[in-house]
Amino acid sequence: MYDLNNPKLAIIGAGVSGLSAAWALKDSDWEVSVFEKSRGPSGRAATRTINEIRVDHGANYFKINSPLLEELILRELPNEDLIEIPGQVYLFDKENTISKGDSKIDADIKWNYRNGISELGKRIAACSGAKILKQTLVVDIEEISSSSWEISSGEGKSLGIYDAILFTPPAPQVLELISNSQIPSSSIIDLKGLLGESEFHRQFSIIMGFDQRIDRPIDCCAMLNEDRKHAISWLGFEDAKSGRVGSSESVIVAQMSPDWTMSYYDSCEDIIYKEALSEASRLIEMPSSGPLWQSKQRWKYAHPKVALDVDEIEECSPEGWFFCGDSFVGRGRVGEAILTGIDAANRILGVE
Ligand SMILES: Cc1cc2nc3c(=O)[nH]c(=O)nc-3n(C[C@H](O)[C@H](O)[C@H](O)COP(=O)(O)OP(=O)(O)OC[C@H]3O[C@@H](n4cnc5c(N)ncnc54)[C@H](O)[C@@H]3O)c2cc1C
Repeated sequence: MYDLNNPKLAIIGAGVSGLSAAWALKDSDWEVSVFEKSRGPSGRAATRTINEIRVDHGANYFKINSPLLEELILRELPNEDLIEIPGQVYLFDKENTISKGDSKIDADIKWNYRNGISELGKRIAACSGAKILKQTLVVDIEEISSSSWEISSGEGKSLGIYDAILFTPPAPQVLELISNSQIPSSSIIDLKGLLGESEFHRQFSIIMGFDQRIDRPIDCCAMLNEDRKHAISWLGFEDAKSGRVGSSESVIVAQMSPDWTMSYYDSCEDIIYKEALSEASRLIEMPSSGPLWQSKQRWKYAHPKVALDVDEIEECSPEGWFFCGDSFVGRGRVGEAILTGIDAANRILGVE
């Protein structure tokens, strides 16, 4: 099927799922190239630097709750500066009533890195040995022969010819890419139909920096809205993560609910910040001077609402096409996305 001496794989997307697939293929014959549209790897396990403070504006932490994740994260990747986030996830409801944490949520260790969760993607990328091409948006796929594919960038530049492609972005983005390409396969309509069943929640992450410590329960690292009726889904305290925030500062990340996000999706920045601050103030006491700085991220595809069936999708895909990512998990979880990448690598290798 493939050029067995030197088969080439293009992985579209350097989120944790695609990078884990590259890592799982590192000792194989496959020559792997990873194409990533943004400036760095790790996708939604994302960290940015604001005023010299590292802030996680996507995933807050990850769990290491399977032997494969233990092998990858604890044994294969360098684990210096891997941190456990102490404290509990408190709960709150639509009336702003706060209660102590849920033992299920707090049963596993909440892992992160001192320098931010994007270290996870960076470390997997480094250990995979794969070629990672950043700031490279894949916009077109063309069939060259029945088992080879040429992919191209936004500028119409060829990014090479590959025996196989692994699609890792959220399924609606994969659908857009495939729909923009001319694929002469009889089952492409079925494939598009299946990908079209995927839906994602949108989510604003609003980040607020303060020049004083915000009072929070001493054993609380974050708060989760349990009835899903509050404007805020999750309130995270970055100062609970070791080594991130100075002792006389605080950084809060408010992940707004999907409904709130939809209502303010196209609002101007000032309104978004004002309303988010007002919602957060109902949960914790804020300094009257307000935040020193604010920042935001508008996630168009934050969390999948449903899980697609990867076997069904690959069955009606052209030869050499594979899929992974949290679209096949049905919920946004770093660890589970990683496992979909390792599973995809096994299918590429023909390992059951
Ligand atoms: C706000 C938020 C909070 C979260 N909190 C948690 C949490 O606390 N714990 C947890 O476990 N999980 C959490 N998650 C979910 C977790 O981040 C994701 O499930 C996981 O990171 C998904 O990884 P992935 O590889 O499947 O997808 P992604 O990370 O989305 O990777 C796909 C990559 O493909 C790239 N891409 C897309 N299209 C193209 C293209 N055409 N060409 C090239 N590159 C392309 C994207 O830039 C991206 O880097 C959260 C997510 C969000 C958004």
